Amino acid sequence: MTNAYHVVVVGAGFGGLEAIHRLAGAPVRITVVDRRNHHLFQPLLYQAATASLAPSEIAWPIRHLFRRRAEVATLLASVESIDKSARELRLDDGSALGYDTLVLATGARHAYFGHAAWEPYAPGLKTLEDATTIRGRILLAFEQAEREEDERKRAALLTFAIVGAGPTGVELAGTIAELARSTLPADFRRIDTREARIVLIEAGPRVLPAFAEDLSAYAKRSLERLGVEVALGQAVSEVNAEGVVFGGKPLAAATVIWAAGVQSSPAALWLGAPADKAGRLKVEPDLTVPGHPEIFAIGDAAIVLREDGRPVPGIAPAAKQEGVYVADVIRARLRGAPAPAPFRYRHQGDLATIGTRRAVIDFGWIKLKGTIAWWLWGFAHIYFLIGVRNRLSVALNWLWIYARDQRGARLITWQGGEAEGTGPFPQREREPR
Ligand SMILES: Cc1cc2nc3c(=O)[nH]c(=O)nc-3n(C[C@H](O)[C@H](O)[C@H](O)COP(=O)(O)OP(=O)(O)OC[C@H]3O[C@@H](n4cnc5c(N)ncnc54)[C@H](O)[C@@H]3O)c2cc1C
Repeated sequence: MTNAYHVVVVGAGFGGLEAIHRLAGAPVRITVVDRRNHHLFQPLLYQAATASLAPSEIAWPIRHLFRRRAEVATLLASVESIDKSARELRLDDGSALGYDTLVLATGARHAYFGHAAWEPYAPGLKTLEDATTIRGRILLAFEQAEREEDERKRAALLTFAIVGAGPTGVELAGTIAELARSTLPADFRRIDTREARIVLIEAGPRVLPAFAEDLSAYAKRSLERLGVEVALGQAVSEVNAEGVVFGGKPLAAATVIWAAGVQSSPAALWLGAPADKAGRLKVEPDLTVPGHPEIFAIGDAAIVLREDGRPVPGIAPAAKQEGVYVADVIRARLRGAPAPAPFRYRHQGDLATIGTRRAVIDFGWIKLKGTIAWWLWGFAHIYFLIGVRNRLSVALNWLWIYARDQRGARLITWQGGEAEGTGPFPQREREPR
């Protein structure tokens, strides 16, 4: 097997995993390289950030996923550069890894529109560490408010600002509102958690801009019914230890969460290849990097246009379809068969939840909202989770939340905050005033 054609897949996210699944049975050996040891189901990350699900319910060890595939080797390592002429990757330990075909599926991270200094005050949501950090901040804000005598400081502690009203911002705002209004009130003695302000800030004219206008309007109304203040058409101009400034006015908020802006992984820089403003590699219609038929880029790391000229969206089904396509191209090449037709994206629809009982679904040909949409959203997500145990456990958790408004994962755990000597708020040096 060591002499077999070597396919290296960087990134075991949605795109990378799908490519490897589709290559099953092909005459290749595969090395999957990821800097994390787990595949993460990002669509439910906001639930880990809001204490609804435990991190282990939405992540799986990569090594375990391929335990029955002898031809797949897993490497826990971070790729730092690529030597195209030598066909080698440089890893973080200084070692090199050669490839015959390379699939780059390294995804994206949140971006701050050139304001990197905002990140410590407004964490984004992309990894499990981000989720547990945000969960800790939300829960600690309530804890600190319970002990705070000063009314102004208490109000700031009970103010949660979410920047960006795409699906993640909407889902976070709705769930934090439910946490404050339904889950937490009985647990506190001095504060009324129902008085918490949850402010969703969006620079554009509506929430969920990718959805049809009537669904956006419904989502806004549903959020407001949950007690979320929705501020539209107001860009954020400052984020600091006091809170956030938007529409020219400051809002004192102890917890600010960033759900706007995406920046691709630096794969284009590694290759010195053309990229768009968000850093996504501009690939050919067969998803190869221009001038390098042996290198593919897929998912959030790449930009490819649909037939109508719009970019393929940065969502999980798109990454998966691209993974399948790339595996088919590799298989065809190995067989000496003609190359498959250029990649064609099939959009299956957009889904978002607003709290535990409402959702919006836009399939294009049919639009759904309300409780029916929420059940459908739930079934779809459970279907796409990996493993029976996780499906059962997530379903049970959701039914429990639905019936009792209780969220079990209300744990404050710090990722090294104490070790850095920064106390309970690892990235905030001062309390809000
Ligand atoms: C909070 C959140 C909610 C979302 N909700 C939805 C949703 O509801 N529906 C939907 O369809 N999409 C959703 N998305 C988008 C979706 O998750 C992405 O489009 C999808 O994950 C892209 O897949 P990918 O394979 O390109 O990258 P990813 O799934 O991000 O995987 C990239 C992998 O590459 C690894 N990696 C990165 N850099 C390196 C390196 N240098 N070396 C080694 N490994 C590396 C990472 O560790 C990661 O495992 C959401 C995203 C987020 C962040």
